[in-house]
Parts: sequence; C-alpha cells; structure tokens
Amino acid sequence: MAKINMKTPLVEMDGDEMTRIIWKMIKDILILPYIDLKAEYYDLGLEYREKTGDQVTIDSATATKKYGVAVKCATITPNAERVKEYSLTQMWKSPNGTIRAILDGTVFRAPILVESIKPFVKTWAKPITIARHAYGDVYKNVEYRVPEAGKAELVFTNEKGEETRHTIFDFKGPGIIQGQHNIDKSIESFARSCFNYALDQKQDIWFATKDTISKQYDHRFKDIFQEIYDNEYTSKFKEAGIEYFYTLIDDAVARVVRSEGGFIWACKNYDGDVMSDMVATAFGSLAMMTSVLVSPEGFYEYEAAHGTVQRHYYQHLEGKETSTNSMATLFAWTGALRKRGELDGIPELVEYADKMDKASILTIENGIMTKDLAMLSELKDKKTVNTEQFLLEVKKTFDEMR
Ligand code: NAP
Ligand code: MG
Repeated sequence: MAKINMKTPLVEMDGDEMTRIIWKMIKDILILPYIDLKAEYYDLGLEYREKTGDQVTIDSATATKKYGVAVKCATITPNAERVKEYSLTQMWKSPNGTIRAILDGTVFRAPILVESIKPFVKTWAKPITIARHAYGDVYKNVEYRVPEAGKAELVFTNEKGEETRHTIFDFKGPGIIQGQHNIDKSIESFARSCFNYALDQKQDIWFATKDTISKQYDHRFKDIFQEIYDNEYTSKFKEAGIEYFYTLIDDAVARVVRSEGGFIWACKNYDGDVMSDMVATAFGSLAMMTSVLVSPEGFYEYEAAHGTVQRHYYQHLEGKETSTNSMATLFAWTGALRKRGELDGIPELVEYADKMDKASILTIENGIMTKDLAMLSELKDKKTVNTEQFLLEVKKTFDEMR
C-alpha cells in the first residue's frame, strides 16, 4: 500500500518523560508506516526549553498560527523539584499557558468511550465535551482578609480620574472579601470558539451561569453569548441541525446527569475546572480524556488531558516494564491528522484517522488493554499488555481492518 501524502505540515510539539517515549512509539508503529508525515518539529522537552530560554515554546505557538494545526505531547511544568532535577536556570512557565496566551483559545475535553468500561452515570451513552473558559474570574482574583470592623467598597477609576463607588459590606467585625474580573473581549472569543467547535462537531452546545444571582457579572456572559449567537450563528446552526441552549448552572448539572450525553457543555473558568474532573472520572479514566485548544481564529492544538506520567517513566528508567495507556496521545495525533485532512481536502487522511481511532477502541473491546483499563473493564476475558505491546496490537487490528 502506498503511503498517504500530506500537503501542509503539522506542527509537532514533542514533550517529556513517559509521554515522550509513547510519542515515538506511536509515530514508529502507527503513523510512519502509513503516512508520508509532513511535520515541523519543535522539541518542547524541558531540556530543550532550558537550552533555548523557552523560545522554542513561543516558536511552536507561532508556527501553529502559520499552519493552523498542532499536536502536542505532555510537558513538565517546572516546580522547585524540577528546577533541581533538570538544573534549570529559571522556573519556566507552563508551556500550555504560554501557547494559550499566544493562540487565545478555549480548551475542549472529551472522553474516549469503550463498550466494556461503563460510565458511573448509567444514562451516559455518548461523550460529554467540556469547554472551559481559560481566563479570569477567581483565577485572577484579589483577596483581602478583613481584620476588623470597617466599610468595604468597590471603586472604579476611569482614565479621566472619575470614580464610581459601590459599598460591598459594612463589616461589624473580621471577615473576608474578594475581587474578580473578566474582559468582554475574552468572553467574546470564548463564545465564538464554543460555537465554532459545536459546528465542527455537529453537536448541541449548552452554556450555564448563575445570572439570576450575579445580575451584572454572570449576566454579561449570558448576554455576550446570546448576542454573538443571534448575530453570527443562528442560520449556521439551523443548517447544521444543532442548538444553542442556555440555562442556570444548577439546572445544567441536573440535566447533564439525566442526559444521554452527546453535547458540548460550555463552562465558566471555575465551573469548567470542577466539572471536567467530575465528567472525566464519571466516564472512567483520565488516561482516556482527549483535549483540544481551539482559537477564535480557527487554529487547533490537540493533546492528551493527562500529564507526563512521571511515576511510570521512573519505572521505565529503572528498566522495569510499564503499562501506560497511550489512547489519549494517539487520539491527539489522529485528531490533528484528521483536521489536516479536512482542511487540505485529503479524504484518505480523514479515513486513516477514523479507522485508527476505531482500531484502538476495538482492540480494547476485544480484551487487550493497559493495566489502568484492565482494572475498570467489565470484560471476563482480558489481557493486560505493556505500553509497546498495546500499540502493536492496535496495529494488528488496524491492518486486519484494511
Ligand atoms: P499525570 O502525568 O497525569 O499522572 C498522574 C497519575 O495518573 C499517574 O501516576 C497514573 O497513575 C495516572 N495516569 C495518567 N495518565 C496515565 C496514562 N496515560 N496511563 C496510565 N496511567 C495514567 O500527572 P502528574 O504525575 O501529576 O504530573 C506529571 C507531570 O506532568 C508534571 O510535571 C506536570 O507538570 C505535567 N503535566 C502536564 C500536563 C500537560 O502537558 N498537559 C498536564 C498535567 C500535568 P498511577 O501512578 O496510579 O499508575
Ligand atoms: Mg483542576
């Protein structure tokens, strides 16, 4: 069989530890035998970030703006321990944070479903995708521990020096206060990313806030979503046969649990933080969560939701066998290749990605899986395999499907 040709390169962002090992295995076993891979390679492994003063991270994000599609391996976000371990000259920022700041996007997380691993919520038959707004609110707050009685005020001073004042509370004794903000521009790009992704996936989109209580702050989110939907998306959604649905956050939680899934749930920053862990756990495993950053300009960066799986990497370094799940990293690759195929009009590439996803799911449904899934699977006959064996088994399934 001739290899599939590509037109435009993918931006390939390599990473760290166990996921870096998996990265190479996926390429060698499941991609390079079938695709004449065109990729512009950026090494975001911590050693090379250190060597380039983190310039490589910025360059990789800039390249994503040039080509439109990137695939990223999990990377270490350095802390004090890592600074020592890798003799770093600086505690480099989180690459994901740097990339997000350049692309200005929204992160969408969706679980990979397999037959024999049942979600804890019985009605969930289709994946639920969480779209989390990644700017502001409590993550950029200012807090104050009120030590004594006194008056707390909200003061806004415009550029001319004119003040607007609101009393927050007249304290009779000690307490606490918090100041949060968000920016119209950020909420607007969040809304557009969500609507574009819904069209892309042909799925309904839900959005929820607490606008009945937060009549200015949360209401602004609701209004911006509605304005953008009315002005730019009504007819596109009608054509695609999908819906935009707004409700209160507590009502949304109740409806999500009763639903059968198959939609995108847009969440404010804090709600998205909490709900994505709830949804991931309820569907089974963090190792089966995919993640894609979609910018308002339509750039895509695919990755796994999990980290570099450090504990397994140290075992690997000791020469011990590992059974690390490569599904989410594989889906990052197929997601990026599929998107490249769609954008460049290469149906064989789209077909390859669909078939590879199916082959990997089928392998697990046939009872061959890594240790993390073997603990969750309800299958009676199951075989636990190591990291590399799993990928070889997926290749076998894929080749049989051709
Ligand atoms: P982690 O890599 O997500 O792993 C936490 C634990 O979850 C693992 O020890 C393992 O449990 C389980 N797990 C996660 N992925 C798995 C997989 N593919 N297969 C099997 N089990 C899996 O989180 P971490 O250990 O807290 O973080 C390690 C590094 O990753 C940190 O340096 C952090 O900065 C980085 N990180 C990067 C990203 C990113 O690039 N997007 C995201 C999060 C964290 P058991 O040990 O019980 O087997
Ligand atoms: Mg969290």
